Amino acid sequence: MHAPADASPDPATLASAQRWLSSPATQGGDGLLERLRAHGARELGQRTRPERLWIVVAAATLLALGGLAVGGLLAPLPALLALLPAAYACNRLASALSRCDADCLPPLVRRYRQATVLLGLAWGSLVATLILTAPQAALAELGLIATLALVVGAFAVLAIERTLWLGFSLAVWAPILAATAFGMPWASADSGSLIALELLFAGWSTLQGLWLTREHVRAHLARWRLEEAIQTLEARDHELLSVRSRRDSLEMHSRQLTHFDQLTQLGSRLHLQERLEDEVARYRERLRPFALLTLDIKGFRDINGSLGPSAGDDLLRAVARRITETQRSGDFAARLRNDEFAVLMRDVSDAEAVRIADRFHQAIEVPVRVGNRLICPHLAIGIAICPTDSLDTAGLLAAAEHAMQVAQRLPRYGSIRYAPGMSVAAARRLTVEQELLTALSDEQFVLHFQPQVDADGTRIIGVEALVRWHHPERGQIPPLDFIPVAESTGLIDALGEWVLDAACRQAVAWREAGLAFGTMAVNISPLQLRDPRFVDKVDSALRRSGLQAEELELEITESAVQTQGDTSITLARLRARGVRIALDDFGTGYSSLASLRALQVDRIKIDRAFVGDMLQSARSSALLGTMAAMAHALDATVIAEGVEQVEQATALRALGCDSLQGYLFSRPVDAASLAELLRQGAQSAGGLPVPLQAGCELTP
Ligand code: C2E
Ligand code: MG
Ligand code: MG
Repeated sequence: MHAPADASPDPATLASAQRWLSSPATQGGDGLLERLRAHGARELGQRTRPERLWIVVAAATLLALGGLAVGGLLAPLPALLALLPAAYACNRLASALSRCDADCLPPLVRRYRQATVLLGLAWGSLVATLILTAPQAALAELGLIATLALVVGAFAVLAIERTLWLGFSLAVWAPILAATAFGMPWASADSGSLIALELLFAGWSTLQGLWLTREHVRAHLARWRLEEAIQTLEARDHELLSVRSRRDSLEMHSRQLTHFDQLTQLGSRLHLQERLEDEVARYRERLRPFALLTLDIKGFRDINGSLGPSAGDDLLRAVARRITETQRSGDFAARLRNDEFAVLMRDVSDAEAVRIADRFHQAIEVPVRVGNRLICPHLAIGIAICPTDSLDTAGLLAAAEHAMQVAQRLPRYGSIRYAPGMSVAAARRLTVEQELLTALSDEQFVLHFQPQVDADGTRIIGVEALVRWHHPERGQIPPLDFIPVAESTGLIDALGEWVLDAACRQAVAWREAGLAFGTMAVNISPLQLRDPRFVDKVDSALRRSGLQAEELELEITESAVQTQGDTSITLARLRARGVRIALDDFGTGYSSLASLRALQVDRIKIDRAFVGDMLQSARSSALLGTMAAMAHALDATVIAEGVEQVEQATALRALGCDSLQGYLFSRPVDAASLAELLRQGAQSAGGLPVPLQAGCELTP
């Protein structure tokens, strides 16, 4: 007889197959891997060859019939009764195996093995019964035949259906050995039936041996192929795993790059947008308001330009650290671009958002060491609230940024809550930005000039050049509306160069016309000072125009002096040529006395804010006196800006101001009108453009 080939090749192969089938790489949506997995399960199942079990049943039935002929009905009956259900169970299990998938395979294989042990035992018992009920004289030959049959079949069977054969041999050998040992009392001779039985048995054993040998080889081949396939699949599986893990780590890395700012490790703009979208969705569900703050470091470009990008990076990192330390837990901070940060704050009211913005000011605006310098960053903070200001991501970002731009123009402590008019202003700014680009080439800029007079108001001692933009449609645009835009677009260098050239040429023209203008004062943006070729540019403007260096005064704002490291070197080089330096808008930029002493300027221009309320405020008046005294102590002269009233002029003279400038004497006027003023001054007895004693008639 022959038992079906084992369902699994061997435990190691099965384990390997199982491992592969259940490995993570073969799980999940991959269609190809799913198909391979199902195929592997089917292949393992089909190798049980269920149809061959019927051969077992046929052989057992034949034996039983032989047993009937030889020893009567009753002796083999129990074994036969055990054999048939065991064979039936084996068959059912084998066909189930051929259909099952990888998940149900291990328990079925286990049950199948148990059934084959039973089958083997039943079958062996049947054979043993037949042998033992045969006449005793034939017992030795029967034992020999049975041994041969076992030997022929066993070597092949071992690898295929071990359990079945083991059960069989145990059942056959145990009683035969016992019977041989004690001798059989019932020996008789019925050689005909014995020989028939022997032949049947021997023939069947030989056939089975051949059959099993072939099966053994084939099974080995099949197993070898299966193992090879599994190994290949395992190798592919490892490749796939490593590709997947590489892909996962790449995905993680790219997420790190896109979602986090590499310099500060805060979130990126994209990350903030995602969080904003979530927050807006959350608001729609639960109506919980939230705030978006945008924070910008004032004057960062100057710091970056003068101290170098690595110092700029240090400052950004320091500010980012302070933001993280100050934000509430659960808030989200990101870096939007260059020196612009944002903080998303959940569940806050308007008042709370303003309070938190104040906290950011306090925590961040303390000196930080950048390289070998101490720098105090100042912030402009814009605040937008959802839902009041906008109900979508882009709207909120725009609102916070508009508010921040307004805050940037505040002199110092700036946080501004968004208001609807701000977007209009921002749109206007954008238009200005675009139009500025063509304004220079289309010669839309002109210079106006404002005279500066001595303390008695008797003589014009200088002229300040102030740029104007004659817009073809919108008329004259004041400098404060476009200079900041020119600075932010980088156009200030070209514009500043044009102003310097035009002012120098105009001054020389007046000189050549015999008009004494004193000094020509030109406003210089802090960004122009950053340009390493700035001194050369001044040199060539002087050379081209023929103006003497002593006739040129450069007005530099106090804040520029504070934030730019190399300014003092640039200014020293200019002064060495004879160019005069004036500190503009003095009193608004928080200069330290030490930095003023180091700077060495020729003139200090006291900001018009102090002059404006000096008659009402004793404090302003006292400050003016102090500033004048301080300037003199630093060997600089003092000019007061924004003088509009005779009383102011008189008081300023008393406080020690050396010269005055303001509408009282003249508004800024075009070159021809200024020439006229110079001419009048030269002709009048005292050279007085507007007689102080006679009150004033402002030039329109
Ligand atoms: P600034 O250098 O402080 O110029 C003085 C400003 O005060 C001028 O305004 C002038 O018209 C105004 N002003 C003069 N006297 C009086 C007065 O009695 N009362 C009042 N209320 N104002 C008076 P303007 O021309 O609008 O210029 C504003 C600022 O724009 C200037 O302030 C300067 O910082 C800047 N600016 C002007 N021209 C240039 C330029 O060519 N280059 C650069 N970088 N900045 C310039
Ligand atoms: Mg000025
Ligand atoms: Mg000024």
